[in-house]
Amino acid sequence: MTSADHTSQTRQWAVSDSSALYGLEQWGDGYFSINKHGNVTVHPKGSANQGLDLLDLIEELEGRNLKLPLIIRFDDILKHRLEKLHTAFSQAIQHYQYRGSYQGVFPIKCNQQRHILEELLESGRRWHFGLEAGSKAELLIALSLINDPQALLICNGYKDQRYIETAILARQLGRQPIVVIEQVDEVERIITASSELGAAPLIGIRAKLSSRSSGRWSNSIGEKSKFGLSIPDILLTVEKLESADLLKELRLLHFHVGSQINDIAILKDALQEAGQIYIELNHLGAPMGFLDVGGGLGVDYDGSRTATTASTNYSLQNYANDVVATIQECCAAHKLTMPTLISESGRAITSHFSVLVFNVLGSSSIATKIPDREKQECLTIRNLRETLKSIQTIPKNSPVDSYKLQEAWNDAIKFKEDSLAAFRLGYLGLPERGKAEQLTWACAKEVVERISKDGFIPKELANLQSTLAGTYYANLSIFRSAPDTWAIAQTFPVMPIHRLQEEPTELGHFADLTCDSDGKLSRFIDNGRVKPLLELHKIKSSENYLIGMFLGGAYQEVMGNLHNLFGKTNAVHVKLNSKNGYNLDHVVRGNTKSDVIQAMEHDPEQLLERLRIASENAIQQGGLEIETAQKLMDHLETSLRQSTYLHQ
Ligand SMILES: *Cc1c(COP(=O)(O)O)cnc(C)c1O
Repeated sequence: MTSADHTSQTRQWAVSDSSALYGLEQWGDGYFSINKHGNVTVHPKGSANQGLDLLDLIEELEGRNLKLPLIIRFDDILKHRLEKLHTAFSQAIQHYQYRGSYQGVFPIKCNQQRHILEELLESGRRWHFGLEAGSKAELLIALSLINDPQALLICNGYKDQRYIETAILARQLGRQPIVVIEQVDEVERIITASSELGAAPLIGIRAKLSSRSSGRWSNSIGEKSKFGLSIPDILLTVEKLESADLLKELRLLHFHVGSQINDIAILKDALQEAGQIYIELNHLGAPMGFLDVGGGLGVDYDGSRTATTASTNYSLQNYANDVVATIQECCAAHKLTMPTLISESGRAITSHFSVLVFNVLGSSSIATKIPDREKQECLTIRNLRETLKSIQTIPKNSPVDSYKLQEAWNDAIKFKEDSLAAFRLGYLGLPERGKAEQLTWACAKEVVERISKDGFIPKELANLQSTLAGTYYANLSIFRSAPDTWAIAQTFPVMPIHRLQEEPTELGHFADLTCDSDGKLSRFIDNGRVKPLLELHKIKSSENYLIGMFLGGAYQEVMGNLHNLFGKTNAVHVKLNSKNGYNLDHVVRGNTKSDVIQAMEHDPEQLLERLRIASENAIQQGGLEIETAQKLMDHLETSLRQSTYLHQ
């Protein structure tokens, strides 16, 4: 801080205040900071020395006709995450002197984009990083992309005969698919397929653990879970494999306690249980060799480091330590060879590398201006003015009796309702009704300004605060780009990417472009809690207001849908180059209107043709000038080729 900062009377807002307000350092994990211009800087290699100004980057991309909303994928971050995961495991292995290794796979369902899978396999080659497939389509992708004979291909999900046969044949191709039995009847299919093809796959078993679980995905574990074999089922399966002479191919035990494990204690229990099952399988005669701890490695979305849904109470290193130490203990006690440890971490690898940036198209809020007093005002209006005056006499910034505020607000509502009743009966004109509404909102504003920040806030008054707050219109469909905010109330860090040297004086939430009242962002991270409003800046008419949604690289893109026919946004892959600049490795154009209407079986050509005929008819009937008709057709043709989002 310079000396000028110290001497100034009222302390100026600094970028560090923005950083603290939005929790950037807590959830950013070293990948994001704010520079002196008040813009977000991205540090793709996780080091403060190298950074890209996100605002500059967006402006340059827009110059290349890559319009907002835009997904920027920082491939260096993806690489860095992969490195971090492997470093954590190798440190844990060293620390606990684990006599085995770690070999990860990426669950394709987390983000199926080709460029992402290619990047992961290429940078993961030195660790023989592999893939996990959960369906036949994902299996096909995995088979075609893996070209490292030592990389593993974990085959999960429901499996029919063909799925299993494909895996058996791929083994002969020199790949390492491991078919994980998740349903009781799959073992029969494996036996049939193996005898028909005269070859067997590598086999795994997914166990249904009975350890406790918590959080959103807690039903991935326990007796009722959709996948996995119970202990009696496991024993039966081993018997069947043995009698078909396939027990020698049983190499892997798998479990998955659900995505986003918030509490490390849950993982520890599961690991102990799985460790014992592993040992028993070995005693039953299976060679084993691999223990797959599934996904679930969590992401600290709100930076609070707590066992709450948007957070985790452990670090990547804690996770690796627990996996390694627990299995080490189990096996050492039985003098067993240590298995190769596998994890299927998706969320933890891909969340950070993708940043969604959208612009705000405008904002609105309820007018709270006090209408001018006129000579002869009716009783309800006079009553409202009285109520307003009584609220104004309550001092601001002092601990205030919330009953007093609530009482005043109840009065205001009563008088507003009186005015509505009078209007319905014809005693009150439209101008008076307008005035009554304005005065009610003016009361609301005065009440909200007096709510104490720390003390108890009655629910009604808290709701009042959100009612009065601004709505920021986002050039975005949350159904397309942030579906989990709607479907499972997930929170992601959301914040302006510029003007961060300026104090955000407004409170607001976002409404998206869809005609759906659920299409909004109104739950924001708040250090372990959730807040309904975000601190934002007043929009300037002279410049775009740009908002970033962070940590959305896992699941969001593929879960997104075409609600209201808003299509995929543009996406770019940015990689740092040696000259401290960046290269655009891939540009993935978003959907055009033509794309999205075709997805619903409409034919763009036919659509144009119909309109051409309609305009021809209108010309014949003299309703339309030829020139105007041409203009209309030009508009339609151009529009079909353009994105589904709004342009400013
Ligand atoms: C979804 C899933 C994963 C990935 O989970 P993350 O929480 O993203 O790491 C891994 N394994 C299985 C079997 C899954 O179903």
